[in-house]
Amino acid sequence: CGIFGYIGPQCDTGLMVLDALRRLEYRGYDSWGVGVAVNGHVQVTKRAGRIGDASVALPEASIGFGHTRWATHGGVSDENAHPHLDCTGRFAVIHNGIIENFRALRARLEGAGHVFRSETDTEVVSHLIEETVRDSTDPETVVSAVRTVFGMLRGLNAIIVLDTATQQLVAAKNVSPLVVGRNENASYIASDAVALVGHVDEVHYVEDDEVVALSASGVRVYDGQTGEPRPVVFIPLTLQ
Ligand code: GLU
Repeated sequence: CGIFGYIGPQCDTGLMVLDALRRLEYRGYDSWGVGVAVNGHVQVTKRAGRIGDASVALPEASIGFGHTRWATHGGVSDENAHPHLDCTGRFAVIHNGIIENFRALRARLEGAGHVFRSETDTEVVSHLIEETVRDSTDPETVVSAVRTVFGMLRGLNAIIVLDTATQQLVAAKNVSPLVVGRNENASYIASDAVALVGHVDEVHYVEDDEVVALSASGVRVYDGQTGEPRPVVFIPLTLQ
């Protein structure tokens, strides 16, 4: 399925994300959704069906992301489309793959009082992030929470967490592809480099044992095992 995320100068991020998702249409999907960060909350438009000539009326934002879904857990519905929020609306998550152990995670979270709004495996991630970060507003705490939570998930997955408080997109993957790109002003993340053409000239293909964080100051990469920062190597964007 398709993933695209942006962080940069404030602009019509919702429409830009939607345009990028159209380029990923060939991957096949049954629903789509876009989320942008507005005043400490994520504002979302998501729908079952094809994007077609759909538009989104979201406020201008400097962070946003979107997803095209191929449903595996939970029917094709507006509620089950991504992104999925935590209980507070601070965090949003998009995900490609299948979280094989989501039932046990969900049962525990519901026991702890988390209220779920969808039937997806994905939604456990937003609640796990909420539970792990609590009210910390330290960007490094959020990166470390994504590392910890990704480590709890079984299966082949890629996740991106949008945090409105620390103004970051934080991602991790296992087999499912992710690529980041940057230019002087902005950083991008996508499931396929084709979505980055026209936006950036250089990219970094995320590796399975990495966590990446995109913020206004650029792209940071961390070792997924130790959490230590790693040098990030960009290569010219060429389509194979
Ligand atoms: N398993 C998730 C869902 O059913 C993600 C599917 C996908 O990769 O699009 O919502």
